[in-house]
Amino acid sequence: MSSWRDTTCGVLTAADAGRRVTLAGWTDTRRDHGGLVFVDLRDHTGKVQLVLNPERAPGAVGTAHEIRNEFVLQAEGEVVLRAAEAVNPNLPTGEIEVQVDTLRIVSRSEPLPFQLDEENVDEVLRLRYRWLDMRTERMQRNLRLNHTVIAAIRRTMDELEFVDVWTPSMTKGTPEGARDFVVPVRLQPGRFFALAQSPQLFKQLCMIGGLDRYYQIATCWRDEDLRADRQFEFRQLDLEMAFVDREDVLDVLEACVVASFKAVGREPPARPFPRLSYAEAMARYGSDKPDLRFGLEVEDATELTRRSEFGVFAGAPVVRYLVAPRAFSRAELGRLEEIAKEWGAKGLAYLVVDESGELRSPIAKFLSEAEIAVLKPAPGSTALFAAGDEETVARVLGGLRAHLGRELELADPSVDAFHWVVDFPLFERDEDRSGWTFMHHPFTAAVAGSEDRIESDPGSVLGQHYDLIWNGWELGSGSIRIHRADVQQTVFRAMGLGEEEQRAKFGFLLDALAMGAPPHGGFAMGIDRFVALMAGEPDIRQVIAFPKVSSGSDPLTGAPTPYPEQTLRELGIRSIVDPEQA
Ligand code: ASP
Repeated sequence: MSSWRDTTCGVLTAADAGRRVTLAGWTDTRRDHGGLVFVDLRDHTGKVQLVLNPERAPGAVGTAHEIRNEFVLQAEGEVVLRAAEAVNPNLPTGEIEVQVDTLRIVSRSEPLPFQLDEENVDEVLRLRYRWLDMRTERMQRNLRLNHTVIAAIRRTMDELEFVDVWTPSMTKGTPEGARDFVVPVRLQPGRFFALAQSPQLFKQLCMIGGLDRYYQIATCWRDEDLRADRQFEFRQLDLEMAFVDREDVLDVLEACVVASFKAVGREPPARPFPRLSYAEAMARYGSDKPDLRFGLEVEDATELTRRSEFGVFAGAPVVRYLVAPRAFSRAELGRLEEIAKEWGAKGLAYLVVDESGELRSPIAKFLSEAEIAVLKPAPGSTALFAAGDEETVARVLGGLRAHLGRELELADPSVDAFHWVVDFPLFERDEDRSGWTFMHHPFTAAVAGSEDRIESDPGSVLGQHYDLIWNGWELGSGSIRIHRADVQQTVFRAMGLGEEEQRAKFGFLLDALAMGAPPHGGFAMGIDRFVALMAGEPDIRQVIAFPKVSSGSDPLTGAPTPYPEQTLRELGIRSIVDPEQA
């Protein structure tokens, strides 16, 4: 294998008994037993027990007394079968041990900030000493899983004749709905690159350039608050295809998901994945990324309560409810109300029916018999109501549904529910609600035949945009793109961009679209999210080698750091932050 070792620790079995081996690795544990010293030696393949016997190798035993956890060792000796009572059935190498003849300390370790087998180590400490954390089984498994998935995706893309094209990281702002990370340029003080939020426009240019099928495992940078499923920088499977319709794109993604599942030895989800329209997802689940591993669908009571004595219902544009399979206590309902308020509700009306069939509800006295007959849930359950405008009601019930799914453990953890959400609106009201902004990004095509309403009635136009969802997590988005400059300009105008601004920001795209652009579409899937879910991890930091913490810092290097004034001056920058505060 190499001059350091001729085998690895985790592969030795009873079949190797009698073999002479040279091993190298880390000290997992050292135990002294009446003259004998036992060392568990660990490398990336697993652990093996070394035995140091004073009769066989007195020198090696002397060396062994110096060993501490995580020292790097090289050992030479003979593989022997363990005595029956010493066999460890929990270890793949548990039937054998290595009787050591010579032992070398290759590298020493200072006392460790935490032990590798310690549970609940503070995450900042783990990240500060990531090289130690990486030696744990969890991180070894996760980083290797990440590799296996990416390798499977690359194989699939290659088989499907996609071309891996590198696109620039330093570019012009790409509108993906986040802030840009800005890069100053020494050679042109006062001018800045943006770190690409995605390769969106470059991949479209690849289609206009005749490449037909582009892909990249692309790094993207977005200046957003960090969350469980979000880092400043992340990788996505980014792809684009020419002369395709939506179904052609979805097909490729499904092939990648299935190949990834197979590569990690997991039963893949059945194809085709179900398709759900945005309108249906919002109406039935109150979310555009519902977890379909459980039902708990939103029910509608708008018509029923039009003339209700209960004014809150009668006066609301929409009244909808969920029936949770549990008779909640008053305290639990209080907590649910808090959650509903966080999602924008003013309060939470409910009908609880306990196991004995008794109805508990402050609003029951206002409801007619006909209303009660429909709305009263079965014994042992609770109807939770939201009344208001359609958007708020969906948000509130969607939020409650997701919460109840977790709280009541409604999802079967052995199920993998993949689905597509399709037919999103092209536009949504922008934040100050005076205009329109894109739902996906401004390059998404309208559903064929609705282009003429883009400017006259933007709110009514559906886009050819689709999202991929796994167990309630959005894995990624894509769309069929606009391939005509004049149509692209109508979208820009609907977003309030004048001719000059269009040219300044997207002149190169408009020029390219005007020189023979094929119909095209694509997708981007967040690799870290996909792998985190695959690994059963609660956040993407656990599958990324060197992630940042929620403040946006890297505990390992200490970045970001202030820069000397001289350096900033060269870049044409003057900081307004007091260096003491930075
Ligand atoms: N550029 C989009 C994103 O990064 C994906 C796409 O539309 O292909 O989310």
